Amino acid sequence: MYCGQVLDVENLSVDHVQPRMRGGDGSLGNVVTACRGCNTRKAGRPLWRFLADDAEARRNFFRLARYVHPRHLKAVAEELARQGVPIPESCPETP
Ligand SMILES: [Zn+2]
Repeated sequence: MYCGQVLDVENLSVDHVQPRMRGGDGSLGNVVTACRGCNTRKAGRPLWRFLADDAEARRNFFRLARYVHPRHLKAVAEELARQGVPIPESCPETP
């Protein structure tokens, strides 16, 4: 997801867009796949923090996260906007 790589199933892990502790569930609209490298880089940071620090991950996230629930995408995009981070043009919230 974040680095745009196509991965073997055994190297994938799932990551929650909206953290469970903040009310996120495990449905398909709230999880993205991440390789171990990306998961390690992201560590325990909130998704928006990771995306704010990594421009490539940000581009890939908004390009690839088409099945993520729109309200979760919107929450991430709004948090990035609050931090002054530019949202990629392909973001579905800014057609
Ligand atoms: Zn990756």
